[in-house]
Amino acid sequence: MAKVKGAIVVDVDKCKGCMVCIPVCPTNTIEIVDKVNEKGYKYMQDVHDNCIGCTNCATVCPDGVITVYRVRL
Ligand code: SF4
Ligand code: SF4
Repeated sequence: MAKVKGAIVVDVDKCKGCMVCIPVCPTNTIEIVDKVNEKGYKYMQDVHDNCIGCTNCATVCPDGVITVYRVRL
């Protein structure tokens, strides 16, 4: 089976920092960072760059903040 590399794009100013997405990531790729968006919320980012494109985070995010891309290697 081909390996899959994933990547996420976070619409930072829509994130509420609710952390629902953090525990569902199987590779611990994402974290809430110590910066605030235009609404004053700390927001989620890809911190560890090891996304496998599973889409769990995008599925659970209540605000549709995350877009997932997958590339076959
Ligand atoms: S798509 Fe999956 S592996 Fe990638 S950041 Fe989201 S939960 Fe983690
Ligand atoms: S679930 Fe969505 S709104 Fe909540 S921290 Fe993650 S990206 Fe932000």
